[in-house]
Amino acid sequence: MKLEVLRCAACGTTLFPARYLCPACGGAQWTKQAVAHGTVLAATVVSHRVGTSEPGAVHLASVRTDAGPVVIARLDVAARKGETVSLEVDEESRILARAL
Ligand SMILES: [Zn+2]
Repeated sequence: MKLEVLRCAACGTTLFPARYLCPACGGAQWTKQAVAHGTVLAATVVSHRVGTSEPGAVHLASVRTDAGPVVIARLDVAARKGETVSLEVDEESRILARAL
């Protein structure tokens, strides 16, 4: 699935995740905007996860989407700061990033 952020119909501010009211103008009408790419701001790896027996490290990154909002995305491999990635959402609503 495509990742979608919300754009305020009144002022154009983009948000993710959704809110009831726009923090910039107080507007409450939104349009959805698909986002396909972003830039890695920071990355980390989670080696030990509480409450799961699933083995293996999980790579995570803060990604500035091309539409503006920052999302936390999961990657198959370590990401580097400044790297451009593609973005999509899987069947469990997780945001996935892949290096281009
Ligand atoms: Zn607004």
